[in-house]
Amino acid sequence: MEAKKKIIAVIIMCAAAVGLIILIFAINANKGEKSEKESKLTTATSAVESTKESEPETESSSQEESFVEESETEDASNWDSYGAPASITRGSNGYVVAIDAGHQAYGNFDQEPNGPNSDVYKAKVAGGTSGVATGKPEYQLTLEIALLLKQELINRGYSVVMIRESNDVDISNAERARMANDAGANAFIRIHANGLNDSSVRGALSICQSPANPYNGNVYSQSRYLSECVINSYCAATGFSNRGVSENDSMTGINWSNVPNTIIEMGFMTNADEDLEMSDPTCQQYMAYGIANGIDAYFGL
Ligand SMILES: [Zn+2]
Repeated sequence: MEAKKKIIAVIIMCAAAVGLIILIFAINANKGEKSEKESKLTTATSAVESTKESEPETESSSQEESFVEESETEDASNWDSYGAPASITRGSNGYVVAIDAGHQAYGNFDQEPNGPNSDVYKAKVAGGTSGVATGKPEYQLTLEIALLLKQELINRGYSVVMIRESNDVDISNAERARMANDAGANAFIRIHANGLNDSSVRGALSICQSPANPYNGNVYSQSRYLSECVINSYCAATGFSNRGVSENDSMTGINWSNVPNTIIEMGFMTNADEDLEMSDPTCQQYMAYGIANGIDAYFGL
């Protein structure tokens, strides 16, 4: 009888110990879940905050001014502290991208039709703008970024067709578009920078045709989507203010393009801050990286 009682006591003690262990495990598991939830919440909050920071400006001038005030603390030297983004490397992806560095060392003011069979004539290549702080001509800046973009796209597995790789060329806007058409480009990326009399205006935008364009309205939706992908990724990478996509049917280089196309106006060279930023080597890496991200997004890569 005594031995039986002992056995029962041992069994009870064992059961109690097992119960205690289960209880400790349950408490710990609950703690773990809680901390996971907390960390998820923190991530979500910071994502919301970063979305707020990079919210694109609207057309309202008061909002544009407030953006300028907020970003005045950022000068070109800040890019140095970021370090250049790591290039993305992939195998061949089968897509062909044509890159046109806007303008050339000397404008060509001979006239050409601004679309196939158009009776409206425009200068073959305009002179472009120049940097108020750097004194750099637009054609030089556009080539610097185009060459960086070329390398980034090659690393990512694209075939790249360069419309020009030197400033000393004479290629009209219609010829540039036809070169992209003839190359069978899946996307035609035209690199430009903006200029305006008002030095306070800043930000990047992209341009494509409207759906009513008589020459290439058939590739409007692709061009519009390409323009959106490029401007959004570019602004996300650089922190430049996003002025959105505008549609224009009077530009020769757009009208002659049979393939999905976009112009990226990377920023205002007539704004001293943006002019300096766009010539900063680290910022330039982000500019090319951002445009490449937009091209990836367009192709769903
Ligand atoms: Zn330009």
